[in-house]
Amino acid sequence: MKNYDYLIVGAGLFGATFAHEALKRGKSVLVIDRRDHIAGNIYTKEEDGINVHVYGAHIFHTSDKKIWDYMNQFAEFNNYINSPVAVYGDELYNLPFNMNTFSKMWGIKTPAEAKAKIAEQIKELNITEPKNLEEQALSLVGTDVYEKLIKGYTQKQWGRPCDELPAFIIKRLPLRFTYNNNYFNDRFQGIPMGGYTQIVEKMLEGADVVLSQDYFDMVGGVENAPESTEGELNDGTKVSWGKLVFTGQIDEYYGSCYGELEYRSVRFETEKLDCDNYQGNAVVNYTAADVPYTRIIEHKHFEFGQQPTTIISKEYSSEWQPGVEPYYPVNNDKNNAVYEEYANRAKSEKSVIFGGRLGQYKYYDMDKVVAVALQCISDNME
Ligand code: UDP
Repeated sequence: MKNYDYLIVGAGLFGATFAHEALKRGKSVLVIDRRDHIAGNIYTKEEDGINVHVYGAHIFHTSDKKIWDYMNQFAEFNNYINSPVAVYGDELYNLPFNMNTFSKMWGIKTPAEAKAKIAEQIKELNITEPKNLEEQALSLVGTDVYEKLIKGYTQKQWGRPCDELPAFIIKRLPLRFTYNNNYFNDRFQGIPMGGYTQIVEKMLEGADVVLSQDYFDMVGGVENAPESTEGELNDGTKVSWGKLVFTGQIDEYYGSCYGELEYRSVRFETEKLDCDNYQGNAVVNYTAADVPYTRIIEHKHFEFGQQPTTIISKEYSSEWQPGVEPYYPVNNDKNNAVYEEYANRAKSEKSVIFGGRLGQYKYYDMDKVVAVALQCISDNME
């Protein structure tokens, strides 16, 4: 029987950050993952000299200097600034919603003209306190931008009408009355040169890592997940642990005892193309409802690639079901209420820590995942 201070389930960014910090503090760590590779959904893989974001585009951005410095220990970041464009039919607009978008939409030039146009479009709607994503979007940018750039995209992305989604989702995007196409307001932004996998590899140096290993198999079934402090790996090795860090779906951990949480999944159709530049930008969103995918990623542009060929991924969104990867929690009132029950039960656990997008059922960006993992470890070591 091999004993570890920590068993970390999930070799994604939360698990790897936690592992790194525990190792630094002299703890022994076993990290397992169901998949056959580390790095969770930030996994990147080099093909034809291009780092492919296998589970979708990940652009690191933060306003927190501590987190930026922390990440820069593991990789050098380039100066990529995310500036997606949106295609709606035969029209093309800059994102996020800014003066370039408004100028193209309405043929206007000044911020005052843009604000007047929006005010005119929303005056009859009488939205005082936006109750959902639709009302939030309309009250911020008016009907034209909502109809062309938000409504179809959001319904494809979430599989639900905009009036059944929480307002906060649309507030992720900056709205500006300047000619500035930077998708984020954060002070620091970039892509790690050479991809994300190397970051997780470095974070996990010194940990035992076992891939293609399911936690529930290890403890002899979902019914044994809570309370377990020992288990058997696929190769027959018996292990035990002091504390468990679980970064999978919290409802699965508890055998869905309070009901199932909903998640969105994403499927990618990736193609190698025999041209050096397919769409001229890393991210192009397709905002009309009748285009089945939400966006096309051209991976080389995240790193200013000069390769002779290119790789693109079309992104299709769907409801999560067992057997595919979950990507996004659906944080509407119904799911948040169910999550609260799991979170309350989790609070009473002395030796289990839940982390990451799936463990905490939160639409976290990467910088928040790292910040929460660092906070968790310092709370745990006190
Ligand atoms: N969104 C939109 N149109 C766009 C891009 C985004 O309506 O062209 C909305 C949509 O509801 C989406 C949300 O803004 O879910 C957040 O977008 P973000 O790019 O932050 O999503 P992520 O990259 O995390 O999928």
